[in-house]
Order: sequence, then structure tokens, then C-alpha cells
Amino acid sequence: MTKLQAPMGMKDFYGKDLASLKELERLWLLELENNNFSEIRTPVLEEKELFIRSVGEFSDIVSKEMFSCDDLVLRPEGTAPVMRCVLENSLPLPQYLSYFSSFFRKERPQKGRFRQFYQYGCEVLGESEPQAEIKVLSLIKRFYDKLNIKYRFELNYLPSEDALRTYEEALTSFYQANLNLLSETSKTRLNNQTVLRILDSKEDRKLNETAPKVTDFLSEEDSKKWNKILSLLEKLKIPYTLNPALVRGLDYYEGLVFEVVDESNTLGAQNALGGGGRYNKLSTQLGSKEKISAFGFGGGAERLLYQLSLEEKASKTKVGLISSEDIIVELEVLRGKLESQNLMVDLNYDYTLGFKKMFKRLDKLKVNYVVVVGSTELSGNFCKVKNLTTGEEKTIPKPFSELESTDFTF
Ligand code: AMP
Repeated sequence: MTKLQAPMGMKDFYGKDLASLKELERLWLLELENNNFSEIRTPVLEEKELFIRSVGEFSDIVSKEMFSCDDLVLRPEGTAPVMRCVLENSLPLPQYLSYFSSFFRKERPQKGRFRQFYQYGCEVLGESEPQAEIKVLSLIKRFYDKLNIKYRFELNYLPSEDALRTYEEALTSFYQANLNLLSETSKTRLNNQTVLRILDSKEDRKLNETAPKVTDFLSEEDSKKWNKILSLLEKLKIPYTLNPALVRGLDYYEGLVFEVVDESNTLGAQNALGGGGRYNKLSTQLGSKEKISAFGFGGGAERLLYQLSLEEKASKTKVGLISSEDIIVELEVLRGKLESQNLMVDLNYDYTLGFKKMFKRLDKLKVNYVVVVGSTELSGNFCKVKNLTTGEEKTIPKPFSELESTDFTF
């Protein structure tokens, strides 16, 4: 029989990895809650049409990376589902929403690139620029600084409708004039009206350096907004670099787009920690009559976890309860009390097992302390607690039923 395995590019989480993932989730949602955001959870499956209309039919995500079943797909990203939910439920604006969820893309797996991955993200809906930009970028900065992550913000500004068309025309002429230097993938992009995405292409990096720059095509109004954002970031001491080739590859962005790039050099080729931008077009792309100002961010959890060891903060003291007597009810009562005092308790139900085997089991479970209730402890007014890490044993002058979490700190 063939060996059964997790699907390609999908990871099991257990033990330390799961503890770290959950701690990251807790820290992100708490940071956002402290900034007046509330959590949102949308379904894992959405209609395919949602991503065709938002991310774009010719985007890499929609054209080749979605797992689909009939007309439903496993969500490849979080922004479009959040906007769909806000519109469908007519949620009042503004909305400050946070999430920690898994997403699915049928990509070639490699370090930092999975087919199921977790993102921590946030979306601000109903708040115009530059307020939302500053709010989100400064909270990302606070979050990464607290975690001691080395990163930089890369920024670019995509013009709105008419100016964007003019820029796309200029790019098209430029690439047509240099067709012999262009990679095959980029030639397809030139033909199916996704010329902007050629700027994303690693193969065409050299050529892209001489391509027309988007920021030279901004209208006066766009230039004002862009400069306002940059000057606020400087005042707030949020460091950034400009990247005129940053287009983010999704159809709904206009205005500020950004990526957070890892500077620890631990991630190899996949060094984008997260990205986001303004997406005022999305609400109307999804059929809303009202244009909703919106700005958001999504970061890859796995890529952050390569650099962090969060599980220790999450671990609790573990206590084992063992006895050679039939006192399961009394020990259950003690277990309930200790658990309510934030200890993790393992109770051995088989009192006939013998202490040697019971200790062996607790060793395997990496228990920190053990309470042994033999016949003498049962009748007396004292009990014994052993620290399994140091081997030290203490006699506590009270019946075992009166033990407290403070008795497990030596
Ligand atoms: P995107 O909106 O596609 O730029 O994704 C935002 C962030 O999610 C990226 O910067 C990565 O950190 C993370 N991410 C995107 N795709 C994957 C993937 N296939 N595997 C792991 N992380 C990913």
C-alpha cells in the first residue's frame, strides 16, 4: 500500500510549532484589539467569481493558483472575502477588522512558500487616506518592533483610473520596443492586458530598471496625497524605501501599495514578510454602488515564525497526580481546582499500575511536578510534591486536597 502523506506544500502543526503559531495569533489579535480592531472570520470556501472580479481573471492567483470544486474555491487571500462580508451584511462604516486565517494557493512549494499558509492581517474600511495608511503602517511597525523583527517598508503609489491607463500605454510601448529582450511569460502579460505585472518579473529585472516609472505618471492630486503620506511617515519616524517596480499583482489596488521586506537574511528568496495597500476600487468591482475607501495588510505567519521562538511564553507548569489508592473522585476535585489556577494537570486513572510505570509515563509527558498520594498521605495531614526537573522533593504540611498553585514553584 502507498504511504499516506499530507498534501504537497501543506504542513501539520503540532507541539512547539503549533504553540508558536497560536502565540503569534494571540499577540496579533491582541495588538489589533488594543487599537480598536475586531476580529472577523469568513468561510474557507468562496464563490470563484469573487476572486475573478477582485483579484483579476489574468492574475497568477486566479489564472493558475486556486484550488476549486465546482464554482467554489478555497480562499487564496483575505481582502476580497472581508469586503464581500461587509457589503453583504451592510456593516456600518468605518470598520476596523483583524484576522488570523489560513489561505490556499496552488504554488510550487519551497522554503517560505506553502499551498496552505496562515496570514495575520487587517482591513480598514470607510476611512480615507492618509489616516488609514498611517494607522496601519504604524501598528505594523509597533508589532514588529515588539517582536524584534528586522524589516523595511518598501512603498509605491499606483495612480487612479485615467493616469493608470496612460501609464499602462507608456509601459506597453516601452516593452514592445524591447520585445526581443522580454521573457516569454512577460510577452503573454503584454498580450493579455496585464502589462503592469511585468514589473514584478524577476527574469526581466534588468529591463525593468529602465522602464517608465509609475510615480512620473501621477496626477497632481495623486502626487499631493503620495507626498503627504511620505512626509507623515518621516515625522513619525517610520523608515521606508521607494520601489517603483512594486505593483502587488492584484487588480484592486490603487494609491499606496507596500511590502514589508525581511532584513534578517534568514528567508532566502521568499523574503516578503507581508504586503498591502489601498483598494478603493474593490467595493464597486464586487457590485456595490457605493465606493468604499479601504486599506489593508496581510503578513505570512510561517515566514515570521522562522525568526521567532514564541512557544516558551505560551507554556504552563504541568503537574501529575498519581496514587496507589482508589481515590479518583478526590483527585478529580483537586485537578479541577489546580486547572482553574492555570496549571496543566495530568491525572493517572489506573491506580493499580504501580508507581514505577506511573513515573515513567509522567517523564514522557514532560511533567514538571508530581504529587504522590500513598496510603500514609491519604490518612495524614501532609503530602509530598516532587520537582521532576531538579529531583527535589518537598513535604507540604497540609492534606493533598488543599494544594494550591503556589505549592508548585520550588
Ligand atoms: P500577498 O498578498 O500575496 O503578497 O501575501 C502577503 C504575504 O503572505 C506575503 O508577503 C507572504 O509573507 C505571505 N504569503 C503569500 N503567499 C504565501 C505562500 N504561498 N506561502 C507562505 N506565505 C505566503
